[in-house]
Amino acid sequence: MKKVVTRFAPSPTGHLHIGGLRTALFNYLHAKAHGGEFRLRIEDTDQARNSEAATKAILQAFNWVGLQYDKEVIYQSRRLELYQEYIQKLINEGKAYYCYMSKEELDALRQEQERNKQTPRYDNRYRDFTGTPPSDVQPVVRIKAPLSGVITFEDGVKGFMQFQASEVDDFIIARSDGTPTYNFVVAIDDALMGITDVIRGDDHLSNTPKQIVVYQALGFEIPKFYHVPMILGSDGAKLSKRHGAMSVMEYKELGYLPEALLNFLVRLGWSYQNDEIFSLKDMLEKFDAKDLNTSPSCFNQEKFLWLNQHYLKETPTQKLESLLNILPPLQNAQKEVLFQELKNRSQTLIEFQNQCTEIFTNPQNYEEKMLKKYTPEIKDLLEKFITFLQEREFSSLIQIQESLHEFCETMQIKAGTLMPNLRLALFGKPGGIGIAEGIFILGKQTSLQRIQQLTTKTH
Ligand code: GLU
Repeated sequence: MKKVVTRFAPSPTGHLHIGGLRTALFNYLHAKAHGGEFRLRIEDTDQARNSEAATKAILQAFNWVGLQYDKEVIYQSRRLELYQEYIQKLINEGKAYYCYMSKEELDALRQEQERNKQTPRYDNRYRDFTGTPPSDVQPVVRIKAPLSGVITFEDGVKGFMQFQASEVDDFIIARSDGTPTYNFVVAIDDALMGITDVIRGDDHLSNTPKQIVVYQALGFEIPKFYHVPMILGSDGAKLSKRHGAMSVMEYKELGYLPEALLNFLVRLGWSYQNDEIFSLKDMLEKFDAKDLNTSPSCFNQEKFLWLNQHYLKETPTQKLESLLNILPPLQNAQKEVLFQELKNRSQTLIEFQNQCTEIFTNPQNYEEKMLKKYTPEIKDLLEKFITFLQEREFSSLIQIQESLHEFCETMQIKAGTLMPNLRLALFGKPGGIGIAEGIFILGKQTSLQRIQQLTTKTH
């Protein structure tokens, strides 16, 4: 069987957005699941809209999520001569021709067609032109599209697709300045790069018959197409900036892990049984393009957060440490307890980092409601606890848990009397990590100092 070769072909007009990354991922998985190649092609022929920074941003996003492409990156901007050769070849073979219609003439044609309630299309005026062309018009080059019949292909997602020849006019393949157009170069590159399978958003569906015209004119083999439905926002409208972050790297800034993003994206348009969790390795084992969904999926923020927390929990301590900005020096055992506690309480790295910072910040003020319950008797109790703690050494979490228990028993109080007040002293507010865990992570000295800070505070 022929080796599967897929590609991702972004236009570098901005950051890589998540819809684009999903397309890239599907192509990557499809190629790798078949032991094939996944290529990257930068479609940067539009000088006005493309930027080098955007290309860099795309490569950076690929790097962050760990998608690896094969061979060198292809830049369309470096292949203009090649495209010229093919344009010339088609002209020489009578499969493409110069069209000298001026902008005014084109506008007039369109207006007339609109008046007659016809779909605007080029009227083949110069298709078989043999006369003397006007000297003041720089011509465009148009390709000869079939005049009758149908253009068909079997889409891997949408099934049998059929377009009437009348829907595809003799479209422009080279502008009057000589630059080739999008549908032309896509087809040339896909053919020359040996692309066998094209997975892309179904917003490209209407381009496909045009690209087929190019393939056929040049005698190239037509790849297999898979047009996947767009991602929708939670309100059912096409996903856009107003639904929140769009760029891949923005999600990094928001504290998402690349594993979670890939897992989230793969499920937006592909399913395997009822499974939700897929590492890249799982995806490679299970991905089959025949399971690409035919109906659009909705972006579900809660699910994304849930997945992110799942991967946060899976991240080993050392790796997690490398992802955090600030972490005070801690013993390994303390770090383990801290990470365990925070993994259970954070959905993003940002939440994780913020809670971490909070824990190590001396409380500046105390929550009003909790403070109201902090009576002189409780103050007394905490002072006793200070003495109790001072006399003890501990090197494990269990020892602290046991000590807390022992203290409550000796004082004949319920844990519910001591704990909220220790929480007030240590963190100044309700919620958060366990008390024994807190004492263990902060260490004896800091814990004592925080409790003293509260007991010596004047009301
Ligand atoms: N460059 C096109 C885009 O960014 C994709 C072309 C294709 O996948 O065929 O939308």
